[in-house]
Amino acid sequence: MKIEGDIREYRLLELENCFKYLIMIQKILGKFSKDLGIDLGTKNTLVYTKEGGIVLSEPSVVAINIRTDEILAVGEEARRMVGKTPAHIKAIKPLIDGVISDFEVTEKMLKYFINKTHQENFILTPRPRVVIGIPLDITEVEKKAVEDAAKSAGARQVYLIEESMAAAIGNRLPVSEATATMVVDIGGGTTEISVISLGGVVAWKTLRIAGNELDQNIIDYIREEFNVLIGEQIAERIKIKIGCASRLDEPLEMEVRGRGLIDGLPKSIVINDGQVVEAINKTVQKIIDNIKITLEITPPELVSDIYEKGIYLTGGGALLRNFDKEIAKATKIPVRVAEDPLTCVVRGTGILLDNDELLSKVFSPGVDD
Ligand code: ADP
Ligand code: MG
Repeated sequence: MKIEGDIREYRLLELENCFKYLIMIQKILGKFSKDLGIDLGTKNTLVYTKEGGIVLSEPSVVAINIRTDEILAVGEEARRMVGKTPAHIKAIKPLIDGVISDFEVTEKMLKYFINKTHQENFILTPRPRVVIGIPLDITEVEKKAVEDAAKSAGARQVYLIEESMAAAIGNRLPVSEATATMVVDIGGGTTEISVISLGGVVAWKTLRIAGNELDQNIIDYIREEFNVLIGEQIAERIKIKIGCASRLDEPLEMEVRGRGLIDGLPKSIVINDGQVVEAINKTVQKIIDNIKITLEITPPELVSDIYEKGIYLTGGGALLRNFDKEIAKATKIPVRVAEDPLTCVVRGTGILLDNDELLSKVFSPGVDD
């Protein structure tokens, strides 16, 4: 029957239009949605949007009331509570060693940060694409955990990218060419040493020692040499203010307060750069030794590229004075500190949000892909 045929055709046409309409909405939403690049670091979490650049940079800390399981604060506010909380409040660093040691808390933290950057766009309820940096030695279960956390926080699509790859991209290094690049990312909980070529990580080593360990070395040194106990945050301040991998031309010193171990009373001491070198030396050497080991397991053709182009240091630890010089001395390879090393990874994720071709080459397939 002709009329029935016409109706069927009309319905098909209607369906097709409907699909077209849906695709259009999807595209429009895609355009207006704030796509996000996220560096979920052991120490700091950073979020990047196309419109605003780096819109969030806060410590990866969550304060929880363990009696009620309620989240009391996230980020900077929670960090200020570290070491000062009463027994029922715990300040948790869920990514303490680079691995997600506490998934539930990581998920909540990620959701909190994503929602925080989306507040002003609430009416559009965007469903963003999210590019997230992940550590190299992450397990499949942990990968899925990060992906699920981002999806349940509202992400439309999640792309996982190795942090060292993101750091190299943030540094504008030629990651997809047939030439090797070595990136050493020294963060809070982990150091990742990786050799990148043709869009992939070809040799790597991750260490569970980085900035936090340097802080701990300083705490131990001051306890042993001065009989004074200082907290993590003061140790970090010493490292940032006068810390160095080898002695400086212009000596530096700093006065800090702690608790005297003999009488339990507050005590003030003066520490200088030479003492910090002594305190952190074994950790600095361990990192250097592992860079050498990674060079040994790198195919020879790639090593010659690295000799030519040098080693790039990223992550907050790259800012330790003279670290570049010490690595260069030990490896006989030129070493460069990346520009703004604390933001390399998140800037890399930002570049990927704008470059689909590169993203499709370098993203690390998720569990469902
Ligand atoms: P993550 O990626 O693990 O979150 P980051 O790359 O943010 O780590 O680096 C954080 C580490 O860098 C911390 O241990 C911090 O103390 C250290 N750091 C930051 N600034 C400096 C500095 N000027 N000198 C030495 N270490 C620094
Ligand atoms: Mg990092």
